[in-house]
Amino acid sequence: MNSNRSFALSFDIEDYFHVSAFEKQIQPENWDNLEQRTEANVDLILELLDSNRSTKATFFILGWIAKRFPNLVKSITQQGHEVASHGFNHQRLINLTRDEFKADISDSKKMLEDLSGSKVIGYRAPSFSLSPKTLWAVDELKEAGYIYSSSVNPVPHDLYGMPNAPRTPFLWQNGLEELPVTTLQLLNRRWPCAGGGYFRLYPYQLSKWALKTAREQLDGPVIFYMHPWELDPNQPRVTNAPLKSRFRHYINLNKTQSRLENLVTDFEWDTISSVKESYSIKQVAAI
Ligand SMILES: [Zn+2]
Repeated sequence: MNSNRSFALSFDIEDYFHVSAFEKQIQPENWDNLEQRTEANVDLILELLDSNRSTKATFFILGWIAKRFPNLVKSITQQGHEVASHGFNHQRLINLTRDEFKADISDSKKMLEDLSGSKVIGYRAPSFSLSPKTLWAVDELKEAGYIYSSSVNPVPHDLYGMPNAPRTPFLWQNGLEELPVTTLQLLNRRWPCAGGGYFRLYPYQLSKWALKTAREQLDGPVIFYMHPWELDPNQPRVTNAPLKSRFRHYINLNKTQSRLENLVTDFEWDTISSVKESYSIKQVAAI
């Protein structure tokens, strides 16, 4: 085992209809009526990881999914992956009251702990929606018993992001650990390089180079993320969504699987909780 593990792989377990980009087209009360594709897509991911170096990853599972597909949480656990929380109903933090958020993160934590039989210490906000306007969430996460969050994407973006947050792991004022999604510093700005739509958009060799370069720049681990629906070119199309949302959601879905296979072969990945043990996080954010 590598004593200084540097690359953490994570998946946000939700279906194609949960994404914030389609929140105006698909209402939560209709979610149950749609074709459910998460289980099959997660099975594909589990098989892919298992057959490539028995790679382990962190699965930030939506409570909504865990409630309907409890066996999925059990499969993830049985294969030795880390179970973490992606909240219950995939609502962006700005759309929740503090009390609603408190219930959301407690209910999802309890359900995942009951199903996995192990303690859940990690949380990722839906759509990286932890922002300067919702920093009360940090105290609620600590209060609910979470040890770390991976909810900050330190880039400028129209839908999310904390462009002034540190690029490396840091402590919030209350001691909660934050492991931001990895960015690349280049030409005087930060570039997203660690997953999601960017991994589908960029040629694989560019992603590989960017991850290696970011790792050299950072005094900390690389945090990479994907979603099960990104490996599913046959998912139903949301045809009435804006062109920009459709472009971001559907580009290169048919290339993700082979790219992910390359990724788990080219780098040595582990869960976020294992990787963060190799680092002592000392920097306290002045946010
Ligand atoms: Zn999500």
